[in-house]
Formats: sequence, structure tokens, C-alpha cells
Amino acid sequence: ALFPALYARSPAVGTGSGRPALRCGPDTLTYAGLARAAGALAVRIGGAGRVAVWATPSAHTAVAVVAALLAGVPAVPLNPRTGERELAHILGDSAPGAVLAAPKDELPAGLAALPRIDVDLAPAAGPAAPVTEPDDAESPALVVYTSGTTGPPKGVVLSRRAIAASLDALAEAWEWTADDVLVHALPLFHVHGLILGILGPLRRGGEVRHLGAFSVEGVARELGAGGGTMLFGVPTMYHRIADALGEDARLTEALTGARLLVSGSAALPVHDHERITAATGRAVVERYGMTETLMNTGVRPGGEPRPGSVGTPLAGVGLRLVDEDGSVLGAYDGETVGEVQVRGPNLFSGYLNRPDATAAAFDGDWFRTGDMAVREADGAVRLVGRKATDLIKSGGYKIGAGEIENALLDHPGVREAAVTGEPDPDLGERIVAWVVPADASAPPAETELAEHVAGLLAPHKRPRVVRYLEALPRNDMGKILKKALPAAR
Ligand code: ATP
Ligand code: MG
Repeated sequence: ALFPALYARSPAVGTGSGRPALRCGPDTLTYAGLARAAGALAVRIGGAGRVAVWATPSAHTAVAVVAALLAGVPAVPLNPRTGERELAHILGDSAPGAVLAAPKDELPAGLAALPRIDVDLAPAAGPAAPVTEPDDAESPALVVYTSGTTGPPKGVVLSRRAIAASLDALAEAWEWTADDVLVHALPLFHVHGLILGILGPLRRGGEVRHLGAFSVEGVARELGAGGGTMLFGVPTMYHRIADALGEDARLTEALTGARLLVSGSAALPVHDHERITAATGRAVVERYGMTETLMNTGVRPGGEPRPGSVGTPLAGVGLRLVDEDGSVLGAYDGETVGEVQVRGPNLFSGYLNRPDATAAAFDGDWFRTGDMAVREADGAVRLVGRKATDLIKSGGYKIGAGEIENALLDHPGVREAAVTGEPDPDLGERIVAWVVPADASAPPAETELAEHVAGLLAPHKRPRVVRYLEALPRNDMGKILKKALPAAR
């Protein structure tokens, strides 16, 4: 079972089913309340082929997804901010038989044709008989769409087996238990926010407090003395935390008092790692995963801070680096770059309706992640970027965008930075830096930034062109959308 703590007789309940499972805004659900609400809803959706979930950051979304899991009906979480075209693509692809939503949610016209089922957090009557989960571990549990960073989002079919395996491997790595209280402010339609952030605590039998929307104030209130032991965030959140740390003693205390600070979904710039450690003495721990693979690697808490590292493979995960010729790299030298390939019980079952894409993504049982990395002597993985957008071939060198971005962010005049390559008659590709200046009225000069990078890294890694922007294009997870950059010119 995915959620032993939901079933009253399970030993995992331990502290009793009256303990809080989930708090979100004004709503609090105990394990008993969650079992009742999700059980009652599961009975209503049983028999549907697939259900869409209007995934607002609310208790309703958590109840809807748990209900679908209990009913054995695959849930498709929808981003409530998805545009018309993307929504049509996802609905056409996933063909849900109904949409689950909170009573107060206004649904867009694109969903009008679907029967709507309102989620009731406190139904007058619970399910007539106890609801249990289907026990087929390979049956599809969720269809989660990828972030669409590199192309149209793909529907990723995830089984109970994959979800359980990945959550348990993380729990082992982080000593994550029923005593943990997770502070959470991520959207609920991706792996990070939904599977790690909601299903994770529920599987452990612990508590999750969702802030509704991220705020530094909310983190300062809930974490540490507020009771929260862990924080899951994306780099943009830690960046805002790092900005606020200097002036906010309560925030510093909250971070210092937490057991675990986790960042993922995109690389946390070294500069932000360093600022947080300097102010709190604590290291933010990164983990690396994908919709298709759930979690692959993670930094274990307690070691020396290693900004830029995503740690070693989690229990059960096989990981190798493969070079352009298809040879498996043996070198753990921190320098030789290869594509990350992974296998293990954490992997997805395939892309929905895309057998071609599924087949192309595998080499035997190894999944090609499209991410490039190096491995350190102790096996720790350092990502250098995505094969498609972050590897620049310039003057005979292969250069990762990430280290140049980190170097640029180290300059006091730079607030945000993204690096891309574009065609160059001499170099093959030239390095282009997209920079959001700290002070728009006094942006650092192109030559100054080029010298700064050359001095920190190497002359051939200096940007040849610097373009200034007011903001970088980002998606809802704060991921930089490099494909949208040339249009920002
Ligand atoms: P799409 O596949 O639609 O282009 P996406 O790859 O961004 O979008 P996700 O599955 O949500 O969709 O994200 C997985 C990717 O996020 C990984 O392949 C990796 O590039 C990046 N990522 C995840 N965690 C980290 C991390 N800790 N550091 C750097 N990158 C990370
Ligand atoms: Mg991807």
C-alpha cells in the first residue's frame, strides 16, 4: 500500500489517526479525516478510466489525488495556469473521464465538456466500507506531464511501484520519518510538489504544511520553532530566502532550526548555496530527478557542503555516464562529461500514447535522461546541463552553460543569468550571456563580465556577447526557459 498511515490498523499510524496529515491555508485534515474524505471521493470516481485533477495548491488537490489512488483510477494533475493550447494538448492526450476540483474553483472553457466532481473535505457520510488500495503495483497511478522546458509536455505514466520505490529511497537517504513536518510551497502538478511534497509525507505517516503560495514570511513562521523540520523548494525560493537572510533574524533561526533543507528541479546556483551556508551554517541539500525517473540521486545530509553536487545514486538506482560514441565512462575524475543514464524501480512505465518516444528514450533498460554530468572520485554526480540546450561547442571545446552561469552570478552586478550558444562562423558556436542586472540603471559592461568569467574559469569560457534583460523567461517551477530566450531579444 502507498499510504499505510491512512489505514487505522496499520502499525505506521503509531501516534494515532487523529494526528494532522495535511494543513493547507485554512484547511487541516487528520489522517482519519483524510481517509474519510478521500475514501468517500474514491467511491464517487471509481469506474472512471482516468481523472483530471484541477491542481490548485489546496487540501482539495491532495484529497483528489489520494482518492484517485485509492480508487485505482489514474489521476492527471493539471496546472491551473496552463494556457488554452497546452490544456487542449493535455486533455486530448490523456482523455480524462471527469475533472476533480474544489467547489470554489472556476474552471476554464476548455474543461466545460468534462463532468465535474467537486472535492468535499468533510463529507457528511464517509465510505460505507473501508476503502483499500488496489494491490497491482504496476498499474498506472498517475500521469504527470513534464515541465515542457525543452518541447511540448509529455505524459509520463507512473506506477505505484515507481512512486513507492522512489519515496522509500529518499526516506532512507534523508532519514525521513513520521516525525517529520514538511514545509511546502510548490505547485502540486509536478513530481516535486505532488509526489515528493504530498505523497511523501503521507507515505511516511508524517505531516505536510502547504503555504498556499511561497513567501519568505511563511517559511520563517512554519520552519524550525514553528514545528517544520524539512523544507522542499526550487532554486528561485532559496534565492529569495538568501536575499532576505541578512535582515531577517527569524528566518535565519527558522532555517538553522530545520533538520533538512532540500532544493531540486533545477540547479541551485553556487552563489545562493554559499550565501545560505554563510548566514545559517546549514547546507542546502540537492537532489536530482525527472518526471520520468522520479528521484535518481541525492546529497545525504550531514557531510561537508558541496555546492553544485546532486549527490550519489539513491538506493536501487543504477547510474552511468555515456559519451557521444555510446561508450560507458569509467572515469570518476570530476571532469569527463557524459550523458546520465539511469535504471531502477523508480522508472516510469512509458510516455502516454508515445511508444516511439518511449523506445527512443531507452538503451535496453537504461533511460537516457538528456542531462550531462561528471562524476567525482566518491561517485557524487555534478550536472553540467542538458544535452539539448546547455552544452555549447565553441572553438573545439565542449562547455557547460552551468559553470558560466554560476560565475556570472558571482558578480555583484548580476541578479540573474542564463548562458546559451549561438552559431558563430569562427567558433562554431559562441557563448551568449543573458543577464538581468542587479541595478538596471548601471548594468555591468560586457567586457567586465567577460573578464570576470575568464578570470574565474578560463578565457575560452568567457561570453562573447552579453544581452541584458529585465527578467529571464521562467515556467511555474522557476525553471529558465532557454528556448524562449532568443524571442526575448
Ligand atoms: P521537458 O522534459 O518537458 O522538457 P523538464 O525536463 O524540465 O521538461 P521535468 O521532468 O520536470 O521536466 O524536469 C527534469 C529535469 O530537471 C532534469 O532532466 C534536469 O535537467 C532538471 N533537474 C532536476 N533536478 C535538478 C537539480 N538538482 N539540478 C539541476 N537540474 C535538475
Ligand atoms: Mg525532461
